[in-house]
Amino acid sequence: MTTWPRFRLGWTLAALCLALAACQPPPASVEPVASQVALRLTQTAAVPTSTAPPVTVTPSTTPSATDTATPTVTVTPSVTPTPPDTATPSATPSPTRAPRATVSLGSLPQPPATFGGASHFLFADPGIGFIASTYRYGSVGVGQAFAPHHGVDFSAPAGTPIHAVAAGTIYYAGNDLEKQFGPQTNFYGNLVVIQLAQAWNGHTIYALYGHMSRVDVQTGQSVNVGDVVGAVGATGVALGPHAHLEAREDKPESYWDTRNTELWLEPLAGTGTIALRVTNKAGFYLPGVHVDFTCADGAPRYLDTYWYSGVNPDDVYGENAAMMGVPPGFCSFKANINGEQVEQHSVAIKAGEVNFVWLKTANQ
Ligand SMILES: [Zn+2]
Repeated sequence: MTTWPRFRLGWTLAALCLALAACQPPPASVEPVASQVALRLTQTAAVPTSTAPPVTVTPSTTPSATDTATPTVTVTPSVTPTPPDTATPSATPSPTRAPRATVSLGSLPQPPATFGGASHFLFADPGIGFIASTYRYGSVGVGQAFAPHHGVDFSAPAGTPIHAVAAGTIYYAGNDLEKQFGPQTNFYGNLVVIQLAQAWNGHTIYALYGHMSRVDVQTGQSVNVGDVVGAVGATGVALGPHAHLEAREDKPESYWDTRNTELWLEPLAGTGTIALRVTNKAGFYLPGVHVDFTCADGAPRYLDTYWYSGVNPDDVYGENAAMMGVPPGFCSFKANINGEQVEQHSVAIKAGEVNFVWLKTANQ
């Protein structure tokens, strides 16, 4: 199992879980970029313009054997996390751009050498509409405004019923004021965690719903797929009503043990799912790469590869981006990676399956 190095940022105000399409930009007092630990290869660390003392964050995991440089990221602490709608202006201006860091290629994780294993569509449709395309798992939102997302967001009006994605037992139902499930308490607000009755490959799988306006189940209770577990809201750190859904593996209270929800959800009728891997020619993951693609319906789509902070590739696919709801047929992918145009055309997408795509640079 591949695990990404983790940057434990307890003050993660910018880890805003939101449906971007439905919300206003965060107020200036929110330091939206400081916690994303935005690492780009070849970029050097920027000196924070803030007068606040910098905090040095290092990965908690041991770098790989080929790594000769310990990646260090200098970030600036923000004010005490508060929901954006009640945040007061900070005394210290926020940096205008994310502090960067120089990371050696060897410090980036490598995907598994082979792709294989059965798919694991253990999540049924939660019945709350479509996933917001602007803030998918592992992405940092438009303008790189937010921390890497540990789940997916469904845009829906407050009060929309949320259904159990699978049969199981309610591991937790309530709020996270005292019991922590996110990078801080009071992050998911009212939440429900289902322990799926069906394990996968020796792992216990959990579905976590956040920001609910209402919780309709109790800890310890059994649920069947489709049961209403609560309703859409904006509790915790959320800019507007939406449903956040996460897949967690083995550690239900760990913010750092998520997987991409879209690879656990049953494909929508007549559509397929893409698991995308973007690496350099040596096979190392490339974070934050913007990939444009078109498929059979001609609609423009894009994926941004996972940022290098606390999100995990799937055990089966080893991807660093994924999208469900893709029409069957052929897709064409293209990305500009540090000036190099990388393209792949005539990629066959089958409905009802996870379709694996690998973009690799040739010159870097
Ligand atoms: Zn979310």
